[in-house]
Amino acid sequence: MKKFNFGQLEIKKEIAKALVDMGFEEPTPIQAEAIPLIMENSDVIGQAQTGTGKTAAFGIPIIEKINPQLPKVQALILTPTRELAMQVAGEISKIGRYKKIKVLPIYGGQPIDRQIRSLRMGVNVVIGTPGRTLDHLKRKTLDLSNVKTAVLDEADEMLDMGFIEDIEDILSNAPKERQTLLFSATMPAPIQKLSKKYLQNPHFISVNKETLTVPLIEQFYYEIVRGSKVDALCRILDYENYDSVIIFCRTKRGVDELVANLQTRGYFAEGLHGDLTQVQRDKTMKAFRQGDVELLVATDVAARGLDIERVSHVFNYDIPLDPEAYVHRIGRTGRAGKEGKALTLILPQEYRHLRMIEKLIKTKITKAPVPTFQEVVEQQKGVIRKTIEDILTEGNLQTYQSITQDLMQNFAAEDIVAAALKYAFTQRDAELSEIDFSGGFGNTGAQKGMVRLFITMGRQQNILPRDLVKIIFEETGVSPKVVGEINIFDKFSFVEIPEEMGYRVIYIMDRLIIKGKKISVQLARPRS
Ligand code: ADP
Ligand code: MG
Repeated sequence: MKKFNFGQLEIKKEIAKALVDMGFEEPTPIQAEAIPLIMENSDVIGQAQTGTGKTAAFGIPIIEKINPQLPKVQALILTPTRELAMQVAGEISKIGRYKKIKVLPIYGGQPIDRQIRSLRMGVNVVIGTPGRTLDHLKRKTLDLSNVKTAVLDEADEMLDMGFIEDIEDILSNAPKERQTLLFSATMPAPIQKLSKKYLQNPHFISVNKETLTVPLIEQFYYEIVRGSKVDALCRILDYENYDSVIIFCRTKRGVDELVANLQTRGYFAEGLHGDLTQVQRDKTMKAFRQGDVELLVATDVAARGLDIERVSHVFNYDIPLDPEAYVHRIGRTGRAGKEGKALTLILPQEYRHLRMIEKLIKTKITKAPVPTFQEVVEQQKGVIRKTIEDILTEGNLQTYQSITQDLMQNFAAEDIVAAALKYAFTQRDAELSEIDFSGGFGNTGAQKGMVRLFITMGRQQNILPRDLVKIIFEETGVSPKVVGEINIFDKFSFVEIPEEMGYRVIYIMDRLIIKGKKISVQLARPRS
């Protein structure tokens, strides 16, 4: 049979077709390394952080190897949770769609009878949580004697959840001469022990951070106060040199509102979410691909699986609540060696989500100031100059030259040119120009550049300056080096921290419980 290419890999036509449907153009690094080894029946340990495509790394070769004519369980995949079982089952059945592979997730919480019936009808791949899988084995409703490949997916989580004995039990029901694969985001010692016991001469593949966090994506965040998000977004858009942009909102309503706002301000924006008909969605996507729509505003669900070329910027207009969604979102830019930017707007109370994301991607996201109006103007001057230069180089100006000659009889050449520019580039930012995004706390009695905070913790709680500094550092990451003057009183204290960290400290620490007491953190009043 003719083989098709998936990057450097060769795969069967039915699978290649399914991957096209899914928007997979080329393998991720873990897929590129793991798939050939798994095809050769080696045992494999694969480590790569969340969002790197581990599911398809084992899913593709498993589907390649399965015989759809044999109505037996040929592959068993164990996952820690019901959600993951469903998710993995979804991805595997998509990959196996044209090969007509039967896939069944089995997990607790769903009537067992239904699962038993499905199993009896003949299933090729079972994706199960350990508990329910064991349950079926005990009832003899699941037969693993034809299993060629067993997978421990998200092994670190399964271990954390205490499934180790269940896993051992389950694996002892599968043939000894099977292939065993283990995938995990992290590789703690107990996992290494587990793999020694159950894997035979495994190949160890680890995709480290460097090859992973697409280096061509620049990531920044902006701290915005509620109520000025739309204005801030527009200001940033005007400043950035964008091509095609995807803007993520948390809800469908958020998408609709933002689209309306952007359209009113003259941006070419359209929305994409689940309430739209397929026809509307196709139309929007077509316009976006052609560049008629520059800003695509979408929910996570609507944008899932979309593969779009030349997305220059991904905006997280709303920061995702699930850190993994961040990875999925920003993966839409900087594809195929092109540069991209991922820009996130956060409200002060959302630092917690930002820190969870940073932890997941093991990268610090840099804070950027919202550009000032003046900066936007400067930037646009540059753009205008470049546009004019391009037009001049191209020539072909006869039509306009006669107008110029007329005007020159009464006006100076310089003024005519300036007027023409004004005519061509009417600025839409007039109304935006007033807004100052720099924050500003008013007078808190602090030194210049600092803000003074009032904290309800003091000598009565045995707090010394170094304790306070330590607590602030542990809770908010604000380095002790940048903390300014500290004054400790019986029941409260004052501390100065750099202005740009002001909101962060207040929002993280206010109402936090420290030493068993709920504390309050507020802006201090000016010293009297
Ligand atoms: P992991 O298990 O490593 O956390 P997943 O397997 O859940 O990651 O994949 C993360 C996302 O990336 C999924 O939405 C998946 O469909 C998508 N994905 C996987 N492989 C590719 C690929 N080769 N090209 C494009 N998207 C991919
Ligand atoms: Mg996974």
